[in-house]
Amino acid sequence: NPVNGEKFDYIVVGGGTAGCVVANRLSADSSKKVLLLESGPSGDSMEISVPAGISRLFKHPILDWGLMSKTQQQLFAREIYLARGRALGGSSCTNATLYNRGSAEDYDGWGLEGWKSSDVLKWFMDAEDYPPGPKPYHGVGGTMKVEQPRYENILHDEFFRAAASIGLKHNDDFNAWDRPQEGFGEFQVTQMQGERADMYRTYLKPAMQRGNLKVVTGARTTKISFERLLGRSEQRAEGVEFTTGGQFGERFVAELSSQGEVVMAAGAVHTPHLLQLSGVGGAAMLLSHGIPVVSDLPGVGANLQDHPACCYAARFKPEYDDITVTADIYDKSNNIKPSAVLKYLFGRKGPLTTTGCDHGAFLSTTGKGQPDLQIRFVAGFALDPDGVSSYIKFGEMKKQGLSWPGGITLQLLAIRSKSKGSVGLKSADPFVNPDININYFSDPLSADVATLREGYKISRKIAGAAAFEKYGPTEAYPGTSRTEDADIDEFIRKTVHSGNALVGTCRMGHSPEDEGAVVSSQDLKVFGLENVRVVDSSVIPVIPGGQTGAATVMVAERAAVLLKSSASRSPLVMRSA
Ligand code: FAD
Repeated sequence: NPVNGEKFDYIVVGGGTAGCVVANRLSADSSKKVLLLESGPSGDSMEISVPAGISRLFKHPILDWGLMSKTQQQLFAREIYLARGRALGGSSCTNATLYNRGSAEDYDGWGLEGWKSSDVLKWFMDAEDYPPGPKPYHGVGGTMKVEQPRYENILHDEFFRAAASIGLKHNDDFNAWDRPQEGFGEFQVTQMQGERADMYRTYLKPAMQRGNLKVVTGARTTKISFERLLGRSEQRAEGVEFTTGGQFGERFVAELSSQGEVVMAAGAVHTPHLLQLSGVGGAAMLLSHGIPVVSDLPGVGANLQDHPACCYAARFKPEYDDITVTADIYDKSNNIKPSAVLKYLFGRKGPLTTTGCDHGAFLSTTGKGQPDLQIRFVAGFALDPDGVSSYIKFGEMKKQGLSWPGGITLQLLAIRSKSKGSVGLKSADPFVNPDININYFSDPLSADVATLREGYKISRKIAGAAAFEKYGPTEAYPGTSRTEDADIDEFIRKTVHSGNALVGTCRMGHSPEDEGAVVSSQDLKVFGLENVRVVDSSVIPVIPGGQTGAATVMVAERAAVLLKSSASRSPLVMRSA
């Protein structure tokens, strides 16, 4: 038995981004026994640590959950692939490593006491280690490693020149809140000297020698168990059930000590799913699956948000095939070039240090307000308008001995998307994936599709700028025949894919009266439960206009302090009061 009948002060469910942060912080107090249960394996692998390995991680049979949305009629009856990491480190092991917090207005817009930009800045900065040194908006000496990208390609400069020629300004720090987010530039990355600095490597691994922290991998939590005492306004968790060895493997129970807490960190899909399986969610849905209701909270699984994404791409004249990032990594037989490996091993530089999309821009397509569009520029040609299918096509080309053609790609993301989806039960069986309704373009004013449509028009201007003229770009996606808005919109709906920014499914709110709120913004406790908190990307109420890893670490850092401070206020006294 991996838990040997022990009792724990904290059971952390999910060893991903947030789980690694809280497991480190909570186990720093040697008097507390902490258990971390992670469904996947450890995050020790070269595919993870070398940033360019990202291309192998999408739909990875072990390190990715392989989640698909339910059929989306508005997207020509497609199912959308939703990448989620499955290992210690979670999605921080499989993500693109971009460090973009979004803007101060994003956090002010949450309208929650204690979570305004002036509050959260401290948590962002305390978490951060940014080697160029302290700046008003950057921290040094924290656990989260942040640096500038290390791979240079001539096409990055051409992109900057093209962006400037259409009137965009250079922004040398998208995380500096003393200026508008708008502009083009380099995105900072969560790396340490060119290696992926995922939260397993940075937060969890150094804490794993602590005797009071037990980490169990291959342990899939299936349910939170509750005491179910009648007449109590708040129900109390007594532990969690989990299996090792998969669906038909061994089943175990991990128990909480008398003042213990369950800390949910299974991510924006699995945290609401596990709550629902445990009887916490909309009563009607739970009862329709025969699950007794512990807390009737219809907000669990609602409010799912993401950054819907599309790709513009242009081919270059064949003589420029060898200047792209892909040509810097692969030779004509599609083997990794020794030069790329040597640069990586002996200087932590070169194309293996990049996930490919660390240059780009933020801009407002309407010319008003906050940027609604992020462009992630790739110095290479996407083989498919869906970035993930591009890698799968490459695998097929490789088998046929064909080399990757040259060109550029601009991945377009609607970063302040207005559409909302949901995560709901398909079955009471914990091994059946939930129904994920990603629901892109459901916003009543069609703002998200308009953002991407305008993104295509801007991309055409950039690719058509003088900076790229000598390369003879020929538009591949959306394709020059698509000139009318309706045609572009159709292409968007046929090719939209996930920007991998799932959040919001257990959103924070002031009080249980705040409709749709699941956890309290004061202490991240689930309403109606005495000792269950959510500390991951699920609690983010409104998606920030930047990749969501930084915001998740900020939430988890803060959550750990909230957990520790209420433990020091003696829950026993509070309970009897
Ligand atoms: P996760 O990190 O996903 O962790 C959840 C963990 O819980 C996982 O380890 C999972 O295996 C585990 N788990 C789930 N269910 C169970 C269960 N039943 N029992 C036990 N364990 C369970 N963000 C950025 O900032 N920059 C980027 O460039 C970026 N690019 C991305 C690219 C991709 C392909 C992906 C997938 C994400 C990307 N993100 C990016 C988003 C960012 O990584 C996430 O927002 C962040 O990691 C979410 O953290 P989390 O703790 O909520 O969930």
